[in-house]
Amino acid sequence: MSSLSSWKELVIGGTITEPGSTVNVRTGTWRTKKPVINQDACTRCRICWEYCPEGVIQELDKPFVSKKGIKYAVTYEVNYDYCKGCGICANECPVKAIDMVSEYE
Ligand code: SF4
Ligand code: SF4
Repeated sequence: MSSLSSWKELVIGGTITEPGSTVNVRTGTWRTKKPVINQDACTRCRICWEYCPEGVIQELDKPFVSKKGIKYAVTYEVNYDYCKGCGICANECPVKAIDMVSEYE
């Protein structure tokens, strides 16, 4: 269970009460679709990491071996606490390794 606040608790008008305080608000809850990365298809090109306007795609030091035996030193994962589901990452991924999946199915 996350200790972050809901976006519904934001101050009316979107006032930022102190620098950096938005990290305390779980803004991902207004998302209707979430990006799901197919780790086997992902070529670790880093384009989604570059394009995400929220900076919520994490490059983790997490080794991964694909079904074809390709070894990767890093893994890209989405921080769903803050991802707003805009779909830019899925649109930009050159190998279509990201699917936008409904939060309601
Ligand atoms: S859906 Fe949008 S906010 Fe979420 S990880 Fe992709 S680019 Fe970032
Ligand atoms: S853009 Fe696609 S292939 Fe590149 S790192 Fe992201 S998910 Fe992987």
